Amino acid sequence: MGGLKNIEWKSGADLGEARWPFCGYAPGAYMGKCRRCGGHYVEMDKRAWHCLSCAISVATEKLESFQNSARELKEENDTLKRAIGIVEQCGSTNETCQST
Ligand SMILES: [Zn+2]
Repeated sequence: MGGLKNIEWKSGADLGEARWPFCGYAPGAYMGKCRRCGGHYVEMDKRAWHCLSCAISVATEKLESFQNSARELKEENDTLKRAIGIVEQCGSTNETCQST
């Protein structure tokens, strides 16, 4: 109970310590046009090319794309493992044939 007094509460939406840029967005004191939605925004870094909303969408889409790629790689890997298993079985069968 007393421990709560010692906690330093910060805003979960405080972006001050975030690493910028994030998918094209960075906060700042400039105006800019978002390349994705075409909207005109204030409070952007002068080098930002996305609004924060679009930057979040880009990050989400990229993550989904990476997850799909990982899934495809896993399926290909499983197929290769099965193929290697078949080849190894053939190899051991040949060895058996040659040794007798
Ligand atoms: Zn946008």
